[in-house]
Amino acid sequence: MGLPGSGLAKGLAVTLRTMTRRSVTAHYPDVQPELPARSRGVIGLFEENCTVCMLCARECPDWCIYIDSHKETLPAAAPGGRERSRNVLDRFAIDFSLCMYCGICIEVCPFDALFWSPEFEYAETDIRDLTHERDKLREWMWTVPEPPPLDDAAEEPKEIAAARKAADKLAAAQAAAAESASGESASGESAAGEGGGDA
Ligand code: SF4
Ligand code: SF4
Repeated sequence: MGLPGSGLAKGLAVTLRTMTRRSVTAHYPDVQPELPARSRGVIGLFEENCTVCMLCARECPDWCIYIDSHKETLPAAAPGGRERSRNVLDRFAIDFSLCMYCGICIEVCPFDALFWSPEFEYAETDIRDLTHERDKLREWMWTVPEPPPLDDAAEEPKEIAAARKAADKLAAAQAAAAESASGESASGESAAGEGGGDA
């Protein structure tokens, strides 16, 4: 058994030690926390990239992604070709009252249509408001941070390489078209000049 009052002294010593340490309590909401850029706050949808493949909805362990779509038939690209069909998105919603922020939907999306945003201030008093529809999911895209710069020795991303290839192809086609147009106008002028000499 210890000395009488030793427990009290120990308690006071702990209190004194803690009083002199720097506080780790965040004064939220007066002071905003400094979150890492890649924090899992909310999910943004970049609708233009979504092909309605349904992979995210199928892989979500909580079944909290709701997607509706319909098919649209597009005319053939060339005469005699086949008509094409494509999926048109009617609804894309995520129920954040069920979401467990595992990130599987973002990982599996083959078309880079889903992104993490560090925004977390979307508490609601009505649980139904935690289902964010496509417009709200798009709004979250504005809060998605830029990707960190690539390492100097990193390979060029395949999207950039593909975009550069497409731009080069387009520029070459435009240059060829401009060249042939100028050739035609030059031959037209010389033909007109010859015609003028006969007259
Ligand atoms: S983060 Fe996980 S639980 Fe949330 S919507 Fe995506 S797959 Fe579903
Ligand atoms: S996985 Fe990506 S492309 Fe497919 S439906 Fe989901 S968000 Fe759209």
